[in-house]
Amino acid sequence: QTTLMSKAKDPYPDWKPGEPVPYAALCTTFSFIEMTTKRLIIQAHCSLFLRQVLRLTPGDMLPTVLLMINKLAADYAGVELGIGESLIMKAIGETTGRSLPVIKQDQKEIGDLGLVAVKSRANQPTMFKPKALTVQAVHRGLLGIATVSGNGAQARKVDGIKKLLAAADGHAAGKVDITKDKGGPSEAKFIVRFLEGKLRLGLAEKTVLVSLGQAMVCHEIEKKGSGKVPSTEQLAKGESILKQVFSNLPSYDVIIPAMLDHGIFNLAEHCKLQPGIPLKPMLAKPTKAITEVLDRFENQTFTCEYKYDGERAQIHYVAKDSPVQYKGATSGASKTSEGIAAIFSRNSEDLSKKYPDILAKLNTWVKPDTKSFVLDCETVGWDTVEKKVLPFQQLMTRKKKDVKIEDVKVKVTVFAFDLLFLNGEAVVEKSLRERRELLHGAFIPVEGEFGFATSMNGREIDEIQLFLDESVKASCEGLMVKMLDGSESGYEPSKRSRNWLKIKKDYLSGIGDSLDLVVLGAYYGKGKRTSVYGAFLLACHNPDTDSYETVCNIGTGFSEAVLEELHSQLKEIVIDRPKPFYSHSSGNQHQPDVWFEPKYVWEVKTADLTLSPRYKAGCKQGVDPSGEKGISLRFPRFIKVRDDKKPDMATSSRQVAEMYRKQESVTKNKGPAVDDDF
Ligand code: ATP
Repeated sequence: QTTLMSKAKDPYPDWKPGEPVPYAALCTTFSFIEMTTKRLIIQAHCSLFLRQVLRLTPGDMLPTVLLMINKLAADYAGVELGIGESLIMKAIGETTGRSLPVIKQDQKEIGDLGLVAVKSRANQPTMFKPKALTVQAVHRGLLGIATVSGNGAQARKVDGIKKLLAAADGHAAGKVDITKDKGGPSEAKFIVRFLEGKLRLGLAEKTVLVSLGQAMVCHEIEKKGSGKVPSTEQLAKGESILKQVFSNLPSYDVIIPAMLDHGIFNLAEHCKLQPGIPLKPMLAKPTKAITEVLDRFENQTFTCEYKYDGERAQIHYVAKDSPVQYKGATSGASKTSEGIAAIFSRNSEDLSKKYPDILAKLNTWVKPDTKSFVLDCETVGWDTVEKKVLPFQQLMTRKKKDVKIEDVKVKVTVFAFDLLFLNGEAVVEKSLRERRELLHGAFIPVEGEFGFATSMNGREIDEIQLFLDESVKASCEGLMVKMLDGSESGYEPSKRSRNWLKIKKDYLSGIGDSLDLVVLGAYYGKGKRTSVYGAFLLACHNPDTDSYETVCNIGTGFSEAVLEELHSQLKEIVIDRPKPFYSHSSGNQHQPDVWFEPKYVWEVKTADLTLSPRYKAGCKQGVDPSGEKGISLRFPRFIKVRDDKKPDMATSSRQVAEMYRKQESVTKNKGPAVDDDF
C-alpha cells in the first residue's frame, strides 16, 4: 500500500493549494471507491485523497471527513436531516423540470434516487455551467437543510436541496449507462445519497479513520523533505494512535484541529477523554449457561453484577470550582450554580432534556471533593411506593424530549456500574476493581435516586445461580459478569468484549440473547387486524456491505394496541420498492405487501436459529456451504422497540452467524473483543 500511495499520480490537477476542496474532487474519489469492493483499495483511495487535502487545503479536513462518513456533525450535536424519499423526489423534479409521476416511475425502475437524479440531470442539459461546488459549501448547505425548523420547514428543506442540486454538476450523466457504470462521479448523485443517509460506497467509518491516520503519517514524513516513504511500522503506529485517541474522544471536531497543530505522533498528549464528549460504550458478549462463564474466566478473578433493564446513560459532570473545562455537547447540558452536567445515550445522543430530574439532583449524590466525572450507568423506572425497580415498559412511557420536572410521572433511579473519568483524570485503563473503589469513594447512594449496581464476587456455580435468581426477583434481566483484575479488566470503549459477559435469565436454554432487528416490510393483517399490519419482515445488518439481510417474518408478541401504534409509525415511511441495499429473497410469494425505509429497530426473542432458503442473514458468513441458505429465526416473538438503536446498530450478520454456530456446538467463548458500533 505504501508503494501504491507513493506512486499514484495527482488525480485532481485543477485543485490549487489554498483553494477550497472542490466537491467534484471528493466525488471523483467516491466514484473510484464505488468501483471496487476491496477494502485495501478503498482505503488507499481514501488516504490518497485525504493526503491531498492535507497538502493543499488542510483547513477543509473536518467537512471533508464528515462528508465521507455521511455525517454533518458529531452524534451528540443531535443534527438530523430528517428527509424522506418524497421530499427528495420533489426537489429533483422541481430542479430538473420533470414531473413527480415521471420521477416516481424512474425510482420504481432504477431503485436508487441518486441515479434517478443523474438521469434527470441528463435529460435537462444546463444552459450555463454553475459555479463549482466546494466541500465546504455542500457541508454548509446540508447543515442548513438539517437545522431548518418552525413554520414551513418542509418547503424550506426542499428549497435547500434544490439549491444544492442546481449547483451540482451532472458530470458523466447522459454519456453513460447509469446502471452499468453507476452514474460516474456525479455530484447530484452523491448529494442525494447523502440526503438519504447512505452513500453506498462500502466506505465504513473505520476505514476513513484508518485512512486519515495513514494520510497524516505520509504527510508528516513528506513535509520533512527527506524523500523517504513511510515504513509499514510508521503507518501502523499512526493508525493505532488515532484509533486509540478516537475511542476515548470520538470527536472529529476536536481531533482534526489538534492533529493539524501537533502532528499525529503527539496526538495522545493533546486529545484525552474529556467531560462533554460521550464515549461509545463498552458492550458485553452473550452466554447461555453459567458454566460457559466459568469456562471463560477459569483462572481469573471476576465479578457479577445485576443487569438492570432500563436505558444506558453516560453522565458527564464538571463542578464550577473544578480546573477541568467542560467542552463538547452543550445544547442540552444543564448549567446550575454548582456546575455543568449532561447525560448521553448508548448512541451518544444528548438525553439531558429527557432526564432533567436526574440532572437537578446530581450534585446531591456527589461527595464534596468529587469535582468532575464521567459515569456509566443504567436508568430504571422506580416504584416509589413499593420501593423497587419498575419493568422496562414503564420507563418507556416517559416523554423523550423537553421533560419538565413537575410533569414527571415515572420516577427514575440511576444505577452506576462504572467510572471512566474522575477529578481531571481518565481512569479507563485502571482495573475494574480500582475503578469500582474510586466509584464507591466518590458518590453517596440515595435510595430511589442513585445507587451502585449490586455486585457479588463469588466464584461457585451455586452462588452465581442464587445471585441470578435474586437479580430476577429484583426485576433485573439477569447478570453481567466482568473481569475484575489486570489490564484485561480495563474499560474498552465501543468494544463488545469477552471481558464482559451477560447472562439473561430468559435465554439460558435458548440461543443466549435476544436480537435487535430492523423492520423492512409488512403484511396486511387478516380478520380483526385488517386495518393494521399483522406481520413484519425483519433483517439484521451487515456492516461489511452496509446492507440489511432478511432474517424472519414475525407476527407474535404484539398486543392490538401495539399493532395500532406500529401501524401509525410505519405508514409514514412506506416506500415504493425495496432499497437496493436490502438483501432479500426474490421469490414472488416471499414479498411483503409494503416496504419501509430502514428506521426502526425491534428487540426480538427466538426459540432457536435454523437455515432457510427464504432468508439471507449470514449468507456470506459461510454457515451454509452452498451459500444459498440464510439463517432464520424460529418462532420469533416481539419484545420491544429499541429507540436507543439506529438501524446500523442492529444485530450484525456476523453476530447472527456466531449465535447459530454456538447453538450447533457450545464452545468456549474465544476470540478478541471486536468493534461493535462503528
Ligand atoms: P441488551 O441491552 O439487549 O442486552 P445491548 O446490545 O444494548 O443489548 P449489551 O452489551 O449486549 O447491550 O448488554 C449490556 C447492556 O446492559 C448495557 O448496554 C447496559 O445498558 C445494560 N446494563 C444493565 N446493568 C448493567 C451492568 N451492571 N453493567 C453493564 N451494563 C449493564
